[in-house]
Amino acid sequence: MTFDDLGLLPELRRVVREEGYTEPTPVQAQAIPLVLEGRDLLAAAQTGTGKTAAFALPILQRLKPQANSSFSPARHPVRALVLTPTRELAVQVEEATRTYGRHLPLLRLTTVYGGVPIDPQTAALRGGVEILVATPGRLLDHVGQRNVALGQVEVLVLDEADRMLDMGFLPDIRRIIELLPERRQNLLFSATFSDDIRRLSGSILRDPATVEVAPRNTTAEGVRQIVYPVDRDRKEQLLAHLIRKEDLRQVLVFTRTKIAARRLATWLERDGIAAEAIHSDRTQPERTRALEAFKRGDVRVLVATDVASRGLDIEDLPHVVNFELPFVAEDYIHRIGRTARAGAEGDAISLVCIDEVDLLRGIQRLLKRALPWAVEEGFVPDRHAEPRPVHARSSYSGGGRGASAVVGARPRAASGRGARR
Ligand code: AMP
Repeated sequence: MTFDDLGLLPELRRVVREEGYTEPTPVQAQAIPLVLEGRDLLAAAQTGTGKTAAFALPILQRLKPQANSSFSPARHPVRALVLTPTRELAVQVEEATRTYGRHLPLLRLTTVYGGVPIDPQTAALRGGVEILVATPGRLLDHVGQRNVALGQVEVLVLDEADRMLDMGFLPDIRRIIELLPERRQNLLFSATFSDDIRRLSGSILRDPATVEVAPRNTTAEGVRQIVYPVDRDRKEQLLAHLIRKEDLRQVLVFTRTKIAARRLATWLERDGIAAEAIHSDRTQPERTRALEAFKRGDVRVLVATDVASRGLDIEDLPHVVNFELPFVAEDYIHRIGRTARAGAEGDAISLVCIDEVDLLRGIQRLLKRALPWAVEEGFVPDRHAEPRPVHARSSYSGGGRGASAVVGARPRAASGRGARR
């Protein structure tokens, strides 16, 4: 399968060539022809699967006939509306769509999201845009101020719809949908197909085609998952120890709350490990700066909450750490979906104290398998979970991460994997 087989315009085939994409990802191969046909779509695809191009390329193609150079805003109504849960994702989707549309320069696009001044966004909207990427709350603010009309939307995309539901955007989404024409195309992308997502899709989508690139509720194959049992008050030390011992770089660490994120980043900094926290209390420029420093390698550890991590434009991270397990088992899949993308390899390390054993069980039920354990020397917990953890040599054979305490050095670290970036 090549991009030439998908029925895309020369302008779009050219851009994917220039971007160096040699072949479509599975979600692109399945979704692009369906979207071009005008079908509604229910797609299970995480960030990192190439889902943005899967909807952006065919949308650009569908809008091309209306591209025009008129100065009149009325000639540039919103025709495609992409709703995203976070501003980071909105920015990322807009940038990607701008890239994919660079040989169709007459199609205008912009993004609107909260947490920044509204006026510059107002000016862009009033000038007219064909493609609008928006977070739901700020979009409704603009609608309320009559900065934008949605009566000519032809395609609606709900990106990371599961996350939008988790964040309580359902009422906003419903209000927005009431402003759209009844006849339109709907594309719903979600990392998982929960019952809530099925209900939402049942009420919005019309005879949808289903695209499922990873089997339901599974994690990427290249991710080595491992659980370290540890006492609650020794997690920071164990994390610092693992980072140093394995020379881990570009480590994305998850906490449940922003307070915990802030505290952990401060702790690591004091311990001499460059770390930044990224959470909803930080301004957009602060988050962008932290993310850029992380990407450059100036910051070794990025500590994030689940909400803040969504839409972070970081690909193929080698290491994801669950400093605390998430309360919602599906968030575990979202979190570790940040590593081992597109066939690469990655580690997902979970530091689990006794209070979290039930959460771990919930995750294992969702994954339909037990995760391997390892006990690190010097960090044997005072109180073990029941049943006692099995030492790694006997339980973990998934690719060479042997547990050091019990079985000695890790071959992967020795082969320099930790220094990949
Ligand atoms: P997304 O899932 O849309 O966030 O995309 C993840 C990353 O994959 C982005 O950085 C894209 O540039 C990249 N990408 C998208 N499609 C392809 C492709 N067909 N081949 C290689 N990389 C791609």
